[in-house]
Amino acid sequence: MKSYEKLLRENRSWAQQMIEKDPQYFDRLAHLQTPEFLWIGCSDSRVPANEITGTQPGEIFVHRNIANMVVHTDVNLLSVLNYAVNHLKVKHVIVCGHYGCGGIKAALTNHDYKQVLNMWLRNIKDVYRLHEKELSKINDEEKLCNRLVELNVTEQLIHLAKTSIIQRAWKYHDRPHLHGWVYGLKDGLIKPLMDMVPGTRIDSLYEYDDL
Ligand SMILES: [Zn+2]
Repeated sequence: MKSYEKLLRENRSWAQQMIEKDPQYFDRLAHLQTPEFLWIGCSDSRVPANEITGTQPGEIFVHRNIANMVVHTDVNLLSVLNYAVNHLKVKHVIVCGHYGCGGIKAALTNHDYKQVLNMWLRNIKDVYRLHEKELSKINDEEKLCNRLVELNVTEQLIHLAKTSIIQRAWKYHDRPHLHGWVYGLKDGLIKPLMDMVPGTRIDSLYEYDDL
């Protein structure tokens, strides 16, 4: 059996199990999704949003990219954010990074990863430059990477708060609550790092006053 055929076989047995437990399961899900959460995570195969949070299909709307970035020119991310906030009306947006992130490690090197990876990693290098004073004092490679993972999560959370999508939802709907988390590959635990409740002030230059 080829590797991808195993996926299809496992899918059939999973669907069967779900129906045995709850005959209406797929009927219900097919008609409605009302997730309370938007998850912005890393594409890393070891950090699946549903499994590590014990949630089921239908509970979390998910966007993943290399190193869980919120890039203001990323039409994909902004479309997901817009849909989640304005149509699904999510109450919480979670940016979840993870220790040992390959994207963060790559950004810390001087290696030419070629376009378009260089373009993407440059956003992470910018986070390093913002926090260079603190980071340049860390000599241990793993500690440096993990601290940049944390700082990157907090910067991406602030990037969310800079969007008019979030600012408008904060102003008119008093949601969503933003959460910055880091997942530990070694222990499977999520560490909350930073929270932004609706109305949290950011650098005033980024605040729209005519929403
Ligand atoms: Zn990663």
